[in-house]
Amino acid sequence: MSDSRVSSVAAMHRKQFGAGAQLYQAPGRVNLIGEHTDTSEGYVMPAALDLRTLSVLSPRADLTANIYSANFHQQVSVDLSQMPSAARGHWSDYPVSVLWSLQRRGIHCRGFDMTLAGNVPIGSGLSSSASIEVAVAVAVLDYAQTTLAKPEIAKICQIAENQFVGAQSGIMDPFASCCGVKDHAILLDCRSLQYEPLPLPEQVAVVICNSMVKHSHSDGREYNQRRSEFEEGMRTLRSRYPKMQTLRDIGEQELSDCAELMPDHIFRRCWHVVSENRRVLQAAAALREGDFVRFGELMVQAHYSMRDNYEASCVEVDILVELAMLQTGCFGARITGGGFGGCTVNLVASKNADAFVENVRRDYREKTGIEAEIYLSYPSDGAGPVPEA
Ligand code: ADP
Ligand code: MG
Repeated sequence: MSDSRVSSVAAMHRKQFGAGAQLYQAPGRVNLIGEHTDTSEGYVMPAALDLRTLSVLSPRADLTANIYSANFHQQVSVDLSQMPSAARGHWSDYPVSVLWSLQRRGIHCRGFDMTLAGNVPIGSGLSSSASIEVAVAVAVLDYAQTTLAKPEIAKICQIAENQFVGAQSGIMDPFASCCGVKDHAILLDCRSLQYEPLPLPEQVAVVICNSMVKHSHSDGREYNQRRSEFEEGMRTLRSRYPKMQTLRDIGEQELSDCAELMPDHIFRRCWHVVSENRRVLQAAAALREGDFVRFGELMVQAHYSMRDNYEASCVEVDILVELAMLQTGCFGARITGGGFGGCTVNLVASKNADAFVENVRRDYREKTGIEAEIYLSYPSDGAGPVPEA
């Protein structure tokens, strides 16, 4: 993180609140492989990004929390002895939800002034929401002189987002923001929360291409429909395999044996999830061996499965993947996030990354008339304190 960014946010805090302060950071994340597997307790492989939210905290003697967002140029005040119990559809729901979730865990603190400033693009699937939540959590936990294991902090943030903000997000986002490791992806088992950092050295860059397309069915309706489709599949499968709790518990052969028991589209939704869990584990094995070519092949297979089995891609994103795969040094490309638009994630040899960005931007513009936003990022460490520059 640039020293100038740290000192300018610290200066902003002093200007807003007139006090010196402690700084913290929490990154956004991208999911390299493992889409729609977290909700059935499967495997995912995110990496924390070097795009992050900074939080700055200085103590107060009373019980007021003043929270200023540099992104929204707005300040809110909360009485910590009388916390709101519901979201109001405002950015402050996110930081307040974390204070609420911490209090539910019995973690209380005195008042404070806080500045938040993020460079994770908001609402683009790179989890600015987890990054702001975790940035608040680590700052407040330190202020409350409470130490928690990082996966615990992630759970507090997930509860905040699910139960206070009201978004049905999984554990992956706050987990990656808390537990990211520089130059590594994280293999996460969403059932046990055990995780393993896997090397993604500096020779490879993670490039994120935003298609700038949000399809009308990306509003959650289609997403929820997919969930209910694979839940329908699970009910059918449980009649055959009573011990199965989620799709995580069966393999492709067991699923194939039940193909006749369900409509084709339900079978394909389930097939995506079951085969995706296998691909994540194979991708992990590839990274352990430093085999980026194999890793890239699995990314592309994962994309095709999202497109054909889960049916959650779209024309523009498919074009981005095709164009990416034509570029020198591109190991793999796939849609990332919930689907129906949004971003692709690409694994590219670092030496070719600048040319990749330029060419994909140009070719995508020529094919679609759309100007893509492209972020070149390197996997980073998870949240923590930041020394003032
Ligand atoms: P994503 O997580 O994909 O970026 P979400 O819709 O889940 O998108 O979360 C975005 C929301 O998080 C924003 O609309 C805002 O309410 C909140 N948020 C994120 N970063 C900040 C910030 N720096 N300041 C204030 N609110 C933020
Ligand atoms: Mg989010």
